[in-house]
Amino acid sequence: MTAGHGPRRVGIVGAGVAGAACARTLAEAGCAVQVFDKSRGVGGRMATRRASWVPEQGSTQLAFFDHGVPWWTAQAPEFAAFLAQAEAAGQVQRWAPRLAGAAGAPVQAVQGWLGLPDMPALCRWMLRDIPVRAECQVSSLVAAEGRWSVLGGGEPVAHDLDAVVVALPPAQAAALWAPHRPQWAARALAHPMSPCWTLMALTDEPPGDPARAEGWDELLPPAPPLARVIRQDAKPGRPRTPGLAQWVAHADPGWSQQHLESDAQDVQAQLARALEQALGTALKWRYVVVHRWRYAQVVEQQAGQDPGPVGADARCEWDGQAGLGACGDHLGGGGIEAAWLSGRELAHRMLGSG
Ligand SMILES: Cc1cc2nc3c(=O)[nH]c(=O)nc-3n(C[C@H](O)[C@H](O)[C@H](O)COP(=O)(O)OP(=O)(O)OC[C@H]3O[C@@H](n4cnc5c(N)ncnc54)[C@H](O)[C@@H]3O)c2cc1C
Repeated sequence: MTAGHGPRRVGIVGAGVAGAACARTLAEAGCAVQVFDKSRGVGGRMATRRASWVPEQGSTQLAFFDHGVPWWTAQAPEFAAFLAQAEAAGQVQRWAPRLAGAAGAPVQAVQGWLGLPDMPALCRWMLRDIPVRAECQVSSLVAAEGRWSVLGGGEPVAHDLDAVVVALPPAQAAALWAPHRPQWAARALAHPMSPCWTLMALTDEPPGDPARAEGWDELLPPAPPLARVIRQDAKPGRPRTPGLAQWVAHADPGWSQQHLESDAQDVQAQLARALEQALGTALKWRYVVVHRWRYAQVVEQQAGQDPGPVGADARCEWDGQAGLGACGDHLGGGGIEAAWLSGRELAHRMLGSG
């Protein structure tokens, strides 16, 4: 397939799973694609934090925490087929985490997926052979005589583009769309996103290790502040240190919202205490830090509040006349699968095949 029916030169803002899926599909159809992301690497909320810590005796060690999406599921056959290809290429692997709810509830295994060796691997793979400009925060998009320019920090970082795609969380996307498509910006802002304070910790294996004893990999505490506790070192293909336990704990969305502007040290102290309570044991801390995701997940829409996509059944927005497109998890309904489907569907519409 060639880019004969679609735009030839495309700029994509955002190298998360939605932007990467759009970029891959367009590049495979023969488009010249350039991607821009404000972060140092790609993946967006498919993220793995690399942390260095120093044991009581010994030299600096490295630890890795999947502090964004901890694992994801695939329902749509096309997404499952894509993941099977990525699995064959060694970029993802299956994981069936055992989930434990409130005390006494049975532990339940769910079929899920992980990036390999880390979460951004899937996006790195989709973006292989596609130019990505990292540490480039796009500040505006400019249209003149049917061509687009992308500006970072007020300076042009790309010009003479046939089309631009914005693959960002709604609040960030709305800022870029506002001068061109105020109605897209308004619709994007009507998609509420929940924040998430995330605790990453390395501790000694607790006495009677509750995760091992009760046979779970993820605990769903019944009440805030914590919503999810993931045993990072239970994941296959992740490094582990004998005698140590690695935890990633997500604060409840409402609690995170209430504490959005709180001091990180206070949040860390409260979440560390909550982790000990959830596990029912004191922990010997070796390393601990928190990360604030201001836009973590799409809040499920209440009936009657759905802002609605631009076209019927659309998981994306595309104005072929102007050469402006939008994709992201908020348009697809939330989560990794929705973001991937959104990016791919946008590329197909741009190519005139969707
Ligand atoms: C704590 C947490 C838990 C989650 N749990 C789950 C789960 O269990 N299951 C699930 O399916 N999903 C989960 N998610 C959600 C999932 O991670 C997202 O739905 C998905 O990664 C969104 O992909 P995206 O490409 O739409 O956006 P993003 O991944 O946010 O990508 C957007 C990219 O744009 C970049 N960017 C932003 N502004 C600019 C700018 N101005 N210029 C240039 N670049 C910019 C960002 O750096 C980022 O790389 C979770 C997310 C978090 C944070």
